Amino acid sequence: MDAGEGERTTCAVVGGGPAGLVLALLLARAGVEVTVLEKHADFLRDFRGDTVHPSTLTALEDLGLFERFDALPQTRLRQVAVPTPSGDVVMADFGRLREPHPYVAMVPQWDLLDLLADAAAAEPTFTLRREHAVTGLLREGGPAGRVTGVAYDAPTGPGSLAADLVVACDGRTSVVREASGLAVRSFRVGFDVWWFRIPTRHRVAGSLVPRLTPAGVLIGIPRRGYLQAAYLDRKGRDAELRAEGLDAFRRRIAAIVPELAGDLAAVESLDEVKVLDVRLDRLRRWAAPGVLCLGDAAHAMSPVGGVGVNLAIQDAIAAARLLATPLRTGAFSRGAWPTAAVAAVERRRRMPTVAIQTLQRVLHRRLIEPAVAGHVEGLPAPLVRLVRRLPALTRVPATLIGVGPRPERVPGWARRPAGPSD
Ligand SMILES: Cc1cc2nc3c(=O)[nH]c(=O)nc-3n(C[C@H](O)[C@H](O)[C@H](O)COP(=O)(O)OP(=O)(O)OC[C@H]3O[C@@H](n4cnc5c(N)ncnc54)[C@H](O)[C@@H]3O)c2cc1C
Repeated sequence: MDAGEGERTTCAVVGGGPAGLVLALLLARAGVEVTVLEKHADFLRDFRGDTVHPSTLTALEDLGLFERFDALPQTRLRQVAVPTPSGDVVMADFGRLREPHPYVAMVPQWDLLDLLADAAAAEPTFTLRREHAVTGLLREGGPAGRVTGVAYDAPTGPGSLAADLVVACDGRTSVVREASGLAVRSFRVGFDVWWFRIPTRHRVAGSLVPRLTPAGVLIGIPRRGYLQAAYLDRKGRDAELRAEGLDAFRRRIAAIVPELAGDLAAVESLDEVKVLDVRLDRLRRWAAPGVLCLGDAAHAMSPVGGVGVNLAIQDAIAAARLLATPLRTGAFSRGAWPTAAVAAVERRRRMPTVAIQTLQRVLHRRLIEPAVAGHVEGLPAPLVRLVRRLPALTRVPATLIGVGPRPERVPGWARRPAGPSD
């Protein structure tokens, strides 16, 4: 499809998730005309990570948004402790990080996205188009030609938006990455996630850390009035679990979290339980002329470790820092493609992606997949002894989870002094 005459922007960002909104906010603060196309009408979806990491908290501080973020209802996780037969052992201590906010804030992601969208709306060059589902790419010179914009479906009907650069931030089932033809390297994952709410007043210990029991594996995210539960089981078991029925499902969950057994009657139907196909993959190249992929669109992350949101935000900060000037000065316009600037984004973000995905693959193989098969081994005794003797070592996993291997700082031109909390 050709762009033709009609609607135009400088940078079209597909997807208003963490990567898309942070990128758009920063580019708008650089004065770049940026349009976000988000397929949903709001950000109220459950299938989101709720973790806001110390490095993201630093970014919010730099953006002048920390006070407003801090006013949101949240719980704070200062340590990751793993139960062992000899008592809990702290494996990651965020308090040891040299970050201004050394904890993981658990906040429903829609609150964070609303905050980012509000801040971006204050910039005159920012536009958010909700209920705009991107369906394909516009190209010049035939199916393999340079990408020149996107085609979308909206309540007003189908349309197209021409852009100097299209950035895919549309997540792990990215339509843009599919249409771009960029090659993907996928890794085997042996489990899926069943995602549902348990209305409860109980606080369940160990958010972020999976509850690994011989009866199964569950991650609980505390939210107001309910626990957002992620039950992990062997990949492809959905039909079998549904055939067993609701009572069997409730019994399965009660065996993992007996303290919630009385609350499970409130799960009234298996229709409330959504299965999520867990994927782990990354693109071999993140860009082709006219299009760049970031966040899960470039590298789908597993929920293990709760690091995907942070990685997506770090991608966005790096991309904004490296691309704001070329976008503003027209280096992408009239069919031009500044190869070096785009390659610099991928070069910068590939190492942290590979490092974190490698760690996730090890945790899948050593911890999660044996546990969903019923073999819970627990932490190796020498490791437990080591961290008990040298607790300073807990800073290493805290850095990997809380900050990431190559933290990005918000560039000076996007920073703002602290704003009032409304
Ligand atoms: C079950 C589960 C739990 C997880 N828990 C955590 C966690 O606790 N912490 C954590 O850090 N990570 C977690 N992750 C990983 C995390 O969700 C992702 O890594 C992160 O959301 C990636 O952010 P993103 O902005 O790249 O994409 P996404 O968050 O997926 O956002 C993509 C956006 O694009 C929009 N979109 C999609 N297609 C289109 C289209 N065609 N047109 C327009 N818009 C479109 C979507 O509506 C969405 O708003 C979890 C993942 C899973 C599967």
